[in-house]
Amino acid sequence: MDIEFDRGIKVSEGEKKLLLDPSHQSDIGIVTHGHLDHLVKDAYMTPHTLDILGVRLGERRGKAVPYKKKIDVGGFEDITLVPAGHVFGSAMIKVDGILYTGDFNTAGGKTCGKAEPYNCETLIIETTYGKRKYRLPKKESIEHDIKVWTEMQMEEGPVVFGAYEFGKAQEMIAILNSLGEVPHVPEKIGRICDIYKQHGVDIDYKMGVPEGDFTAVVTPAELKKPASGLAGLARKQNGSLAYLSGWCAFYPFFRTKDIDAQFPLSDHSGFDELMGFVERCDPEQVLAVHGSAQEFCSAVETELGIDARPLKN
Ligand SMILES: [Zn+2]
Repeated sequence: MDIEFDRGIKVSEGEKKLLLDPSHQSDIGIVTHGHLDHLVKDAYMTPHTLDILGVRLGERRGKAVPYKKKIDVGGFEDITLVPAGHVFGSAMIKVDGILYTGDFNTAGGKTCGKAEPYNCETLIIETTYGKRKYRLPKKESIEHDIKVWTEMQMEEGPVVFGAYEFGKAQEMIAILNSLGEVPHVPEKIGRICDIYKQHGVDIDYKMGVPEGDFTAVVTPAELKKPASGLAGLARKQNGSLAYLSGWCAFYPFFRTKDIDAQFPLSDHSGFDELMGFVERCDPEQVLAVHGSAQEFCSAVETELGIDARPLKN
């Protein structure tokens, strides 16, 4: 079995050929999730991701594969998609002795499942937070901080969160719902939320112009100085603004964004969770993609004694 980076992660064996997260339209491709750096038409993906593709790329074109249903693609006969816990519809891919995580999160989320380890020979793992210093706080404690801050700020005026429009925004809506709040969202986020609803994910949100005090979840673009859209409206009413991203654990965003707080809500696994995942999958070799692949591979070799190398793109 050969695994190399060639306009996607190419897995081949003799005549058999498969592309994981291809960079171009491909009928032997499998797309792991609906973030724009992964979405391409015509490939295989979960039904959730296919519906997200329809909204984001304007044309619902691809092949829907439910989680855990065995399929054959490009001559490989034993392929299944399993939850990755990254965003709604995200999948890890199992093919023969390989597990490819795609973007994944062992902590999961309120609007998606969570990634479980599987014993495999080769683990292809994403290492966005692959440096030792990228240790993320526990999800429960981040959510707790967000809720406490929200309730405090709501006494002063509107409260607005800026989060990536697919995945993070819906997680934040679910957190606000758990406080009894139904946040306003701009249409760009609302159209994606509608897909969640169609698939039975219970989130409550509203579109349109708010009156009086309100909560809202907007795209990070609205937080850019000077705040605009619903974030700008909140500012005029003595409101509070916050930014959500895993990177908030390591870098301040106050200089470029008009915010009062930032919270490290992540849809990726942090360094400790990545290492724990490798340990529990117990593979013979690890191939790392994205982010801090080299540093992560060194850590896997020294701490776990497992062969590891970056898969170059
Ligand atoms: Zn992603």
